[in-house]
Amino acid sequence: MNIILIGPPGAGKGTQARILEETYGIVQLSTGDMFRAAIRDQEPLGLQAKALMEAGNLVPDDLTVQMLEARISKPDCAKGFILDGFPRTVPQAEALDRVLEAQNKKLDAVIEITADESALIERIAGRFTCASCGAGYHDAFKPTQKDGVCDSCGSQEFLRRSDDNAETMKTRLQAFHTQTAPILPYYKAKGILKEVDGMAEVQTVAKEIKEKLNSAILRYATG
Ligand code: ADP
Ligand code: ADP
Ligand code: ZN
Repeated sequence: MNIILIGPPGAGKGTQARILEETYGIVQLSTGDMFRAAIRDQEPLGLQAKALMEAGNLVPDDLTVQMLEARISKPDCAKGFILDGFPRTVPQAEALDRVLEAQNKKLDAVIEITADESALIERIAGRFTCASCGAGYHDAFKPTQKDGVCDSCGSQEFLRRSDDNAETMKTRLQAFHTQTAPILPYYKAKGILKEVDGMAEVQTVAKEIKEKLNSAILRYATG
């Protein structure tokens, strides 16, 4: 199963992608995580992306598409993937169609996760992740069970993203509205767009996504 999660920063894409990975045994492909890894490893791509990301602007389409194409061609994506944070522009959506067609793959569903703007800012402000396994947390909504210790792997090191601040968040939200939201009609026209209320609790959102995915698969299987 190949799916896309679309939503503004903080909507819960990463959180839900991790749940779906476990449920369906498919991989999460987060272009944001890939760029952050390239920055950390001081790759040329990271150098090109760094300033743009820190300002909350999108990385150019050609760089992003090349990176995603290389990743999606790897054997671990054969069983299926969850795109988290890609595509983010109409040209990226069109490029994705070409990449998938060349690989004889198709999209099963595009899940739009919606959330109120005030909630997004609160979620971003409290977000942190385990430096070792990448598990996601929130100061108020999902603290670690034991203070300062990752529930999943026991690590005591955590990361906060430098772009998760109020100032950059404004630019990122604007980028979502002007550059990313226009891809929703593109998928709606293909009949694969499903909307999910991201304001509910994490497990409720997960349940709603799975119900929508299961009906999408069923519809596909029965023609
Ligand atoms: P995105 O990948 O869309 O930017 P994340 O999945 O990283 O969003 O979630 C942003 C923050 O909000 C994280 O700290 C996460 O723990 C928290 N969060 C995610 N989903 C919910 C939810 N449904 N209710 C409350 N907090 C949430
Ligand atoms: P969030 O989950 O909070 O929306 P991401 O981790 O997906 O954030 O993205 C962080 C930043 O990485 C974006 O603000 C942008 O600069 C860059 N980025 C990630 N994915 C893309 C993409 N598909 N196209 C262009 N830039 C991207
Ligand atoms: Zn961990």
